[in-house]
Amino acid sequence: MSIFESFTQIRTLLKTIDINAVARLSKKVDLNKMMGVVSKMSEEDLGKMLKFMEAGSGKKKAPPMVNGDFYELTGTLSPEDKLIQMKVREFMETEIKPIANHYWNNAQFPMHIIPLMARLDICGLTYKGYGCAGRSALLEGFIAMEMARIDSSVSTFFGVHSGLAMGSIYMCGSEEQKQYWLPIMQKMKIIGAFGLTEPEVGSGAAGGLTTTCKRIGDEWVINGQKKWIGNATFSDITIIWARDLSDNQVKGFIVKKGNPGFKAEKMQDKMALRTVQNALITLTDCIVPESDRLQNANSFKDTANVLRMTRAGVAWQAVGCGRGAYELALKYTMERKQFGRPIAGFQLVQDLLVTMLGDLTAMQTMVYRLSQLQDSGVLTDEHASLAKVFCTLRMRSIVDHARELFGGNGILLEYDIARFVADAEAIYSYEGTKEINSLIVGRAITGESAFV
Ligand SMILES: Cc1cc2nc3c(=O)[nH]c(=O)nc-3n(C[C@H](O)[C@H](O)[C@H](O)COP(=O)(O)OP(=O)(O)OC[C@H]3O[C@@H](n4cnc5c(N)ncnc54)[C@H](O)[C@@H]3O)c2cc1C
Repeated sequence: MSIFESFTQIRTLLKTIDINAVARLSKKVDLNKMMGVVSKMSEEDLGKMLKFMEAGSGKKKAPPMVNGDFYELTGTLSPEDKLIQMKVREFMETEIKPIANHYWNNAQFPMHIIPLMARLDICGLTYKGYGCAGRSALLEGFIAMEMARIDSSVSTFFGVHSGLAMGSIYMCGSEEQKQYWLPIMQKMKIIGAFGLTEPEVGSGAAGGLTTTCKRIGDEWVINGQKKWIGNATFSDITIIWARDLSDNQVKGFIVKKGNPGFKAEKMQDKMALRTVQNALITLTDCIVPESDRLQNANSFKDTANVLRMTRAGVAWQAVGCGRGAYELALKYTMERKQFGRPIAGFQLVQDLLVTMLGDLTAMQTMVYRLSQLQDSGVLTDEHASLAKVFCTLRMRSIVDHARELFGGNGILLEYDIARFVADAEAIYSYEGTKEINSLIVGRAITGESAFV
């Protein structure tokens, strides 16, 4: 190296060095000796030393990221699927989170989000053809989780339309019905609802529907009531399940908005999922053409096929509700200070957080496998029921602990967590209660039916 080159190099180096700091350092240590030792160190050791020195200098370490995906399940998604998941997350965080409490408090549904949701292009995600993407149940599960992570009401609205209503047509409709309805439902140009439960018949729907249908020529006459029917106050079509008076079998019908025999009244004063518009439906000599009867729904077994698919989705929803609550609580404990330090630093608080994370991680890995079973076409009723039972139970425990960690603020809507606690109660009970799903699993593992 020439003298000129050495001089240039020294000048460049000097520009990057804080001369005053070097002067201060030279008073404390033998600089020449230190340079000799440090220059011989490996890059890895240098990095470690720097970290150690930064910690000693009082520089604050950045707090860990708040992330409920502890076993990094998202990392197993393909880049394309991850992109869809992140698109949904962004939508939920920017469009829904800021308005969720307002609509929940006023028990109204934010109709303006429907065209925004349509742009996500995620309706009927697992169905093949008819404008649907034919993607995996696993991705659909992740999407249900992302939605419920922010707002279980929006996730329920979507699950009823895309899962229960579109699913009934996809699984039980004729080719013609599928060709007509699914593409417009996929684009959310029309919204669907699903009417199975009745005022006096909930858990016992399989054998006990009192809503009846009777064929007269090319038409059917339906009479009865349906309770709890999500989206039905404004839906364009509602799938109505009724018992055929001639053969006693359950049949499904596409009942259109405006049918004079169809009345949907909004259910008032719910304490959970208040944004979801649940209706009490009264069918009085409601005339439906044979062409609107689901042509491949011949008994309750066909209804149960739809419920098996959506029950798996509800398990994912429970994971989302639990994850949202855990993440809110973790963030809060890192920010909230008592006794002069963040409450996250207290042992009893960490114990609760770890208990919640353990539950959440068990739920996530369970539904992950559940969707794999679904994608391989081997999902059974008992698989879906076990996940529904386990995940909704653990969700209830997580939201409970989360609320506890918020102290008094935990009952204020503005901190979000109160909404999670309330909404968990509905997820716990719908699509089959804990008892009914336990009986389904119990029958499978013992070979004995404990249903009455
Ligand atoms: C927010 C919300 C949204 C809903 N959305 C819809 C919808 O869109 N469409 C729809 O069709 N339905 C919907 N439902 C209805 C839901 O599926 C029912 O509430 C659920 O199936 C339970 O029925 P039930 O409320 O009539 O309770 P019941 O059947 O009366 O049960 C009451 C209690 O008795 C227990 N029980 C009943 N039978 C047995 C037994 N054999 N052994 C042991 N215990 C038993 C139950 O587990 C429960 O604890 C919704 C419900 C809610 C809360």
